[in-house]
Amino acid sequence: MRRGGRAADYGGGPAAIETLLRYGVRFDRDTTGALSLGLEAAHARRRIVHATGDGTGRAIMRALSDAVRAPPSITVLEGLEARRLLVVDGAISGVLATSSSSTVLLPTGRVVIATGGVGGLFLHSTNPRGAFGQGLALAARAGAELVDMEFVQFHPTALDTDASPLTLVSEAVRGEGATLVDETGTRFMEITPGKELAPRDVVARAVWRHISQGHRVFLDARHALGSDFARHFPVFAASCAIAGIDPAIRPIPIRPAAHYHMGGIKVDQAGCSSLRGLWACGEAASTGLHGANRLASNSLLEAVISAGWVADSLSGAPAGQGRPHVAPAVPPPADPTPIRPILSRAAGVMREPDALTDAAAALLPMAQSAGMESDPALVALMIVIAALQGRESRGAHFRIDVPRSKASYENGCRSRLGRLCTPRR
Ligand SMILES: Cc1cc2nc3c(=O)[nH]c(=O)nc-3n(C[C@H](O)[C@H](O)[C@H](O)COP(=O)(O)OP(=O)(O)OC[C@H]3O[C@@H](n4cnc5c(N)ncnc54)[C@H](O)[C@@H]3O)c2cc1C
Repeated sequence: MRRGGRAADYGGGPAAIETLLRYGVRFDRDTTGALSLGLEAAHARRRIVHATGDGTGRAIMRALSDAVRAPPSITVLEGLEARRLLVVDGAISGVLATSSSSTVLLPTGRVVIATGGVGGLFLHSTNPRGAFGQGLALAARAGAELVDMEFVQFHPTALDTDASPLTLVSEAVRGEGATLVDETGTRFMEITPGKELAPRDVVARAVWRHISQGHRVFLDARHALGSDFARHFPVFAASCAIAGIDPAIRPIPIRPAAHYHMGGIKVDQAGCSSLRGLWACGEAASTGLHGANRLASNSLLEAVISAGWVADSLSGAPAGQGRPHVAPAVPPPADPTPIRPILSRAAGVMREPDALTDAAAALLPMAQSAGMESDPALVALMIVIAALQGRESRGAHFRIDVPRSKASYENGCRSRLGRLCTPRR
């Protein structure tokens, strides 16, 4: 099932920001006291709210986790990892979870998956190493439908160091006028429409091609921001300082890195998955909002809005019967280490079918095994198969052998031949 070409109908952005303000998130304001709006890649105007420049996610997390801990009606279980969903008669009936010392069976008829992205399945990623799609493996093994798995977004500008995860250089830096240059000082994006603020996939491919040709790539903020850099981007400036880089006087070395997953657990506009009793929101869910290529800074907003849908839907849903019959065997702790080189080689910024086929052959036995690599291999396999089946290039999914989207080459055929011809498959 594929729907990456179309964004779902959405609304509620301003209301979501109001809600976050009520929970105490302190978004940056301008000198008049109004919310300060930033410009990011592929946005037509300044519309992004931030907190402490580049610390928005952290500020939201802090406020919401304080809010969750306040009421006695919410029990927070920390240090537990969900390892399997239990299903009875086609509906959720419980969660098997483990900590470092014990296994817990939680009977419930209602589960919400909000386990984040898949970047940790790649060698180079901005995501925490633990974000390797555990929730997607849980949902898939329980029988829920997943969608758009090939749409992994690569951020064009991660700080090129040996760190893991790589530090993100926010698009807002380019929004403030920083330019992409190579080691000779050539601004290689100058001829591309939109230049440095072209959509992420376009910039990521341009950077990837340039690196593949043997260049090093840098983000040059010396003229645009200079000594103001640390004031605009204090969190990132601190990371640069640790790496021994001062963006005010030296271009910042960058490379593309796996950053965001548009695909995931297919949900409707109430956040319901195809499996009774299972909801999903945030990056683990695929709502269709982002199409095949998320616009910068839309994900936190989507996470807040889709979590609201889930809350509304849950409050109206019967509690269901948590009645796991037999607890399944506890799988060993998941380890994506052997998966990373396979997936990175095959399903990176530019993909080609032979490498994808080889990766699928390597991943299948791992996914079927009972080893530590099994769950990460299953998620990687779903990405690879979707990338093989998506015989076109669309948004973040770029196939070297079919560099255009189906619609564009169908239209190309139409205008050239005056009739619709069958697209290449
Ligand atoms: C460096 C960086 C910068 C970003 N900047 C922006 C930005 O400026 N604007 C924007 O809109 N988006 C941004 N994004 C994207 C955005 O942060 C993510 O899409 C968003 O945080 C996802 O939220 P989430 O709640 O779905 O998942 P997460 O925030 O990833 O939370 C998932 C949680 O689930 C837990 N978990 C995972 N598996 C299990 C399991 N099996 N059992 C129990 N718990 C589990 C994890 O430990 C984690 O705590 C950025 C992403 C990165 C990596």
